Amino acid sequence: MKLIDIHTHKTEQESGILSVTSVEPDEYTDLQSRFAERLFSIGIHPWNVKIDLDDMLNMLSDLTKNSNVLAIGEIGLDKLKAAEQETFALQKKIFEAQLEIAKERKLPIIIHNVKSTSEILSALTKHKITNPVIFHGFRLKKETAEQIVSKGHYLSFGKLHNEKAMQATPLDRLFLETDNSDDEISEIYESAAKTLGITKTNLAKIIENNYTRLFCNEKEKPE
Ligand SMILES: [Zn+2]
Repeated sequence: MKLIDIHTHKTEQESGILSVTSVEPDEYTDLQSRFAERLFSIGIHPWNVKIDLDDMLNMLSDLTKNSNVLAIGEIGLDKLKAAEQETFALQKKIFEAQLEIAKERKLPIIIHNVKSTSEILSALTKHKITNPVIFHGFRLKKETAEQIVSKGHYLSFGKLHNEKAMQATPLDRLFLETDNSDDEISEIYESAAKTLGITKTNLAKIIENNYTRLFCNEKEKPE
């Protein structure tokens, strides 16, 4: 039984766990040389947006050519971190630029969403995103879960989550994660299996299938 941690910031890996480590573009080269076996998602987090990020965006685009880069993320919008309208506008600009990179590279997208569900959904529509999109660290209510999955997107849950939202998520749209916590992914699988009323083994199979479907296609190899 292989457990998958779809979104973590930890670089050390528990044995027997397949995890996808989320890094900023300028962290990747150092980390991937030290942790050659790891899988990564790369993106400019909405907390880290600045005015001039053209170089960082170019770096991101280049790095996605590496075979251990599985996704763009975490990227998104965070209204709590953007007290000023200007900052939110900048978050949007950087988010949308990264959506275009993901589209061009045909990579799944891992989303950070704080109080910005409708803006994120409209940006995905505006950019005609058909890539798989995972809303990570999902803690919102059932209705929001239903709204997001009805658009064909995926949800990833950590230890803190709304049980009804998890139950309302179709099993083929579900992932689990540790994010930046010290929680063990195995325990998150156990509690999710209870919430969902299935065995941990079954849940592991389901999530492994989801993972394979999204991440194990022949990756586009741009020149
Ligand atoms: Zn995260």
